[in-house]
Amino acid sequence: MDKEKWAVRLARRTEGFHVARAVTQVLALTERPDVISFAGGLPDPGTFLLDRVEESTHRVLSTRGGEALNYGPTRGYLHLRHWIAEQMRDWERVELDPDEILVTSGGIEALSLVAMALLEPGSTVLVGAPSYLAALHVFRCSQAEILSVEVDSRGMKPDALQDLLEGIGRGDPPRLLYLIPSFQNPSGVTLDLERRRRIVALCADYGVPIVEDHAYANLRYQGAPLPSLKRLWPEGVIFIHTFSKIFAPGVRLGWVAAGPDLVSTLALCKIGTDQCSSTLGQRVVHDFASRGGIDEQIRRAIPVYRRKRDALLAELNRQLSGRVEWTVPEGGFYVWLRLPPGSNSEQLLREAIEAHRVAFVAGTPFFADGRGQEFARLSFSFLREEDIAEGVSRLSSVLANQG
Ligand code: PMP
Repeated sequence: MDKEKWAVRLARRTEGFHVARAVTQVLALTERPDVISFAGGLPDPGTFLLDRVEESTHRVLSTRGGEALNYGPTRGYLHLRHWIAEQMRDWERVELDPDEILVTSGGIEALSLVAMALLEPGSTVLVGAPSYLAALHVFRCSQAEILSVEVDSRGMKPDALQDLLEGIGRGDPPRLLYLIPSFQNPSGVTLDLERRRRIVALCADYGVPIVEDHAYANLRYQGAPLPSLKRLWPEGVIFIHTFSKIFAPGVRLGWVAAGPDLVSTLALCKIGTDQCSSTLGQRVVHDFASRGGIDEQIRRAIPVYRRKRDALLAELNRQLSGRVEWTVPEGGFYVWLRLPPGSNSEQLLREAIEAHRVAFVAGTPFFADGRGQEFARLSFSFLREEDIAEGVSRLSSVLANQG
């Protein structure tokens, strides 16, 4: 057959892939060793407790190697689900049965399973403007209609949500509202308590389930913890968490907590993805976590990230004050910049990488509706502390050359 002419026919859902394609192409460029990258949201590998992970791995393989290397239950390793239920009680004061927990291959699989179970082509999904770009990708793959709700320095605006819900009406309410209440990706902002209550009340009133993404919530550097939405509305919130920021993303594990019927359906969806998340990984994480490893890792990681955040904020103040505005995150990995009016963040990013050897993520992929040219996301988690001042100085040169 003529190779030139032969081509598979792609599904219509791939038409929405151009955003993800552009982002992955740019992220690949940021891996050049001469580039100081504020782009990827990777944990600092210095926070991993490698010796203890090694001990746990050895213990699991030497005592339960046969099971650890085999397939496991679709819902996840039962002891790990019990550990998760205990953490949900300690961290969130939410009481859960292991039946209400499904272990997933990262938070992103949890989101994909929820989308598979809840969305059909054309279903309405509500997200923040801005919001996590991979979540937008998942919703696009589901061919959902994505509607955006404004986010400001106190998180998603309940008034904007109310206007949208009133406009949609009660006949066919949105299938879900996706929210990252604490230290949001990309903006770093936290939804305050009053807004948490109002958003929960609105969603309960209109019958819209909330998908709460808790990815960064354990990494708080200042201020008092706030109740999760799951705590405020246990029956209406589908809660997603990940081991990526509290253990390590390489293990690819997370979980979803929801009512037992929905968890059963999500487990059926998982039969079409990977049937079970890594059995070895789950046993290693359980061994490590049940010996206090995760608590210790969080305790040790917080001052590391706080120092990096403070260094970045200090340099922004010193070098960019008056030219750009930025958010002050109380935790998590991200600072969100508002660039000078009229900026084109995608073009600036190309110049930043090519001419100034500095990278960030342009604002546009975080908006479902094509906005975002005046924003940029900076991540401070992975970069070495000693590179932050030079990185901001390079950003300053990019902005000085603008226009
Ligand atoms: N949610 C948010 C907001 C994130 O930033 C991330 C990771 N970048 C995830 C979920 C999912 O991460 P993972 O699939 O590694 O668990």
